[in-house]
Amino acid sequence: MKANYHTHTRWCKHGTGEIEDYIEEAIRNGLQEIAITEHVPHKDNLDLRRIQWEEFLNYDHALNQAIECYAGRIHVIKGFECEYYQEELEAYRMFREKYGYQLLILGQHRSGENREIDNFAEKGVYEMEVYANEICRGIETRMFDFVAHPDLALQGYSRGWDSKCEYIMRMIFEKCEEYQIPVEVNANALRDKRAYPSEEAFQISKEYRLQYLINSDAHNPEDLCGTAIQEAEAFAKKLGITVLETL
Ligand SMILES: [Zn+2]
Ligand SMILES: [Zn+2]
Repeated sequence: MKANYHTHTRWCKHGTGEIEDYIEEAIRNGLQEIAITEHVPHKDNLDLRRIQWEEFLNYDHALNQAIECYAGRIHVIKGFECEYYQEELEAYRMFREKYGYQLLILGQHRSGENREIDNFAEKGVYEMEVYANEICRGIETRMFDFVAHPDLALQGYSRGWDSKCEYIMRMIFEKCEEYQIPVEVNANALRDKRAYPSEEAFQISKEYRLQYLINSDAHNPEDLCGTAIQEAEAFAKKLGITVLETL
């Protein structure tokens, strides 16, 4: 493991550990670079379990300080994990251009016109299709650097893997191929034994010319380089997937 591009901290309110704790853990494990990618703040603060809009400047200051403190020891990238919400794109652009958040990753946790669909919850075909559509529209903006847990919507689909799942995953992989945007094998979900990463989904992904990344999606410093990373590596190896070591 040379890098991790999907990392949370206590700032999202459902994680633990300071920014510095993750950076130190990365250094201890010999990583060359780490991206700190908190859940992006949204102007409407609809989600309380993330940095609130008014907290952004404090967070940005803390992140800049941490980066300065470890300069020369490890490359720390400023990033955000972002949902594709049309009304937030302007803010994402501002984070990138004005504040130097270079790595924006696409992670669609909630969907629907009013974000009424929780993509982790029980769902049917309709919700999976809405998810896939939003991921595709998000990719088309070319604002995002890779797709976090592309198969997230399989979570909560009670019928298990079927032709509908295949259909939505093909939609997503086809778009990723077209826009040459890497897809993630998410170690956090392996840690939590979720329905993703899905072997069936990643099996069909091999029919597309794709690039893959393994990321910890750590919400706890110990998980940054923990055993779930080895599990994700074994998952990729079993499927014959070659993973990028760095972006
Ligand atoms: Zn999170
Ligand atoms: Zn995440």
